[in-house]
Amino acid sequence: MNKQTVERKLQEIVHKKNNMKYKLSKREVAELLREKGIHPTSQRIEIAHFIYQKPQHISAEEILNHLNKEYEKVSQATVYNTLRLFVEKNVVKELIFSSDRIYYDSNTTNHHHFLDLETGKIYDIPACLIPAPELNKKELGNIEVEEINILIKGRLKSNIAEIGSSNNEALRERN
Ligand SMILES: [Zn+2]
Repeated sequence: MNKQTVERKLQEIVHKKNNMKYKLSKREVAELLREKGIHPTSQRIEIAHFIYQKPQHISAEEILNHLNKEYEKVSQATVYNTLRLFVEKNVVKELIFSSDRIYYDSNTTNHHHFLDLETGKIYDIPACLIPAPELNKKELGNIEVEEINILIKGRLKSNIAEIGSSNNEALRERN
């Protein structure tokens, strides 16, 4: 199995249950924003429409570049403010790997990530594949845990697809 097939399979498995949101029309995007309590301005629609094309992790710069190339000129401040609002209203998830590596994730379900160190690509891993660690609250102090995100760094090899296919069954069992 070649690497591209492995990548495709991984994405297919992960997004099987979550693919209804993608490839929405601009009207559907406007409706989704309204449902989240956001007034759908044309710029907000453009930004959400771009992010929701597919399951992806993109930076603010990529969004800005895309908008300026495809549509009207949008200011950096507008993109950042819109993204902040989207994060607040759970339209996208914010992934902060470091101060200069911040991504916006169109998959808003609880999940983990795998970072391929060779390509820098980020893959989603369903939360059900990795059991949440037992957090010793005494050691952590008084923390109210909202979510646990695990970042796995490594190199993509074909054996990940094997994990993926057993995951496929795990997902089915849970359905
Ligand atoms: Zn993700």
